[in-house]
Amino acid sequence: MAIDGNTTCAVPGCGALISGPNNLCNEHRLPGMGVRVGGSTMVITAWYAEHGDEAGVILLNDWAMGAHFGGGAGFEGNLREQGFVNVGNLATPEEVEAAKKPGRGKKVGDWAGPWKTQYPWEIGSPISVDQEEISSEKDNA
Ligand SMILES: [Zn+2]
Repeated sequence: MAIDGNTTCAVPGCGALISGPNNLCNEHRLPGMGVRVGGSTMVITAWYAEHGDEAGVILLNDWAMGAHFGGGAGFEGNLREQGFVNVGNLATPEEVEAAKKPGRGKKVGDWAGPWKTQYPWEIGSPISVDQEEISSEKDNA
């Protein structure tokens, strides 16, 4: 089943066969929750992450993890590059539930939920550039 009727692993160059709701082969597969979206299936993986005094659970489907990151290790590395620490894959529903309750000194980050290509702290100067453009337009008027 998988995404778009794929029969092989979503990791580029892998080519191993997949089964069930998975988009990743036995070697690249990570535990997660199988879901059906229209005619496609995928496995949603959950990741614990911390940023500053915040903690939360980030979700990513297995197809995106394979196609964009080459598997779990690549995605974990990407989260670290995005500024997260103590990143880890959550293997069981119990681990996911426990991770939703932050430990001492932590609060739930508003970034928790589906993975984003960019988080607020990654956004830099574009906002100030926009303001300069607005002020120069006023000068011309
Ligand atoms: Zn594979």
